[in-house]
Amino acid sequence: MADLHTGGPDLPQERRLSTEIPGPRSRELHARKIAAVAQGVGTVLPIYAVAAGGGVVVDVDGNSLIDFGSGIAVTTIGNSAPTLVAAVNEQVAAFTHTCFMVTPYDGYVRVAETLNRITPGSHDKRTVLFNSGAEAVENAVKIARAHTRRPAVVAFDHAYHGRTNLTMAMTAKNLPYKSGFGPFAGEVYRAPVSYPFRDQGVEGPAAARRAIDLIEKQVGTENLAAVVIEPIQGEGGFVVPAPGFLTALASWCRANDVVFVADEVQTGFARTGDLFACDQEGVVPDLIVTAKGIAGGLPLAAVTGRAEIMDAPHVGGLGGTYGGNPIACAAALAVMELIETDGLVGRARDIGLTMTERLKAMRAVDERIGDVRGRGAMIAIELVEPGTRTPDAELTRRVAAGAHAKGLIVLTCGTFGNVLRFLPPLSIPDQLLTEGLDILDAVLKES
Ligand SMILES: *Cc1c(COP(=O)(O)O)cnc(C)c1O
Repeated sequence: MADLHTGGPDLPQERRLSTEIPGPRSRELHARKIAAVAQGVGTVLPIYAVAAGGGVVVDVDGNSLIDFGSGIAVTTIGNSAPTLVAAVNEQVAAFTHTCFMVTPYDGYVRVAETLNRITPGSHDKRTVLFNSGAEAVENAVKIARAHTRRPAVVAFDHAYHGRTNLTMAMTAKNLPYKSGFGPFAGEVYRAPVSYPFRDQGVEGPAAARRAIDLIEKQVGTENLAAVVIEPIQGEGGFVVPAPGFLTALASWCRANDVVFVADEVQTGFARTGDLFACDQEGVVPDLIVTAKGIAGGLPLAAVTGRAEIMDAPHVGGLGGTYGGNPIACAAALAVMELIETDGLVGRARDIGLTMTERLKAMRAVDERIGDVRGRGAMIAIELVEPGTRTPDAELTRRVAAGAHAKGLIVLTCGTFGNVLRFLPPLSIPDQLLTEGLDILDAVLKES
């Protein structure tokens, strides 16, 4: 077993099933989990990990599974990349915590400088660091309210922004995220998004106009602090808005002194084949929220944006005990360097081409695949009853379970539970990417 504990790139890059999935040791651990952990924390696939790297996750039974999940778009550079491990080890040996608000350190400042440089737009920027995506979204709203002195926030249909009280209010889907957890924060309004597959014929600018009309009539521009949007929706179903939707919304916000906030928690850091998803259409958000892929699995999140907006809150108004923890900052610096030195933006595009081509070929002969969409290494298929747009969540569950049993980690998403999403780490070898797609093809045919 000892060799199994070596993660990173030395891990054999193969799918290997030594037992059924989950195996006996995982089942034993899962029984202990159920007895010890609150059931509110769900489990997609109860195999218990001992190592991960490249494109695989290895479990306690010695099974090696192909990873199309990246721990929900987090391990974009792969698990335990050597430069990240070295940076983290060096930092952990030097010091683990001082609290940046008590005695600061260089790593935090360097992360801020790097984010200010690489996020969309060449304007003067500032950054503040947090622990989770939800916490960063909350703080983007605080900053926008302090700047505009207005209360209202607009989020969209199918949006996901987190599980804290304010971000539950901003999240669209009731089960599992919100049900029974209210009352929710006030002054959050919902607008229709552009969802080309379910919105056929409505082009980007028209979809933006539809949202803006509603905002003007139901919220009132003079009350609106911020419009918060995922440039490609994550949990909501990898919904890619029609071209021109985001640009029209952003320019309306500019014209009305409304802060345009891009939630790039899932899409950021090369995932979509651009450094940030906003880059694809040249959208420049006033504030951009990042987390997930930022630090290779260490908890870190950020709000980056226009200096005059970011500096609106008074001194002491932003922060948190652990925000910008030095170990997470060391990891983030390693991630951001690796994205550049290893050409990971291009790698995400190549993965996207491979996946899209194969999935479109599957769609051509299978009417249950209603849509193939996404960008870069963030691709999904929406499953429907043949020849309709009626969601088939049951089929989606069967295909995910079938893939898991064959050693392929896939996730589902979507408001209607009928989207299979693929988020491989960019370190996945081509042969595992192809093998994963072969498995999907076979499982769909059997389902
Ligand atoms: C995951 C996610 C969040 C919440 O991030 P946490 O770190 O889980 O709090 C917010 N927004 C988007 C788009 C996400 O995908």
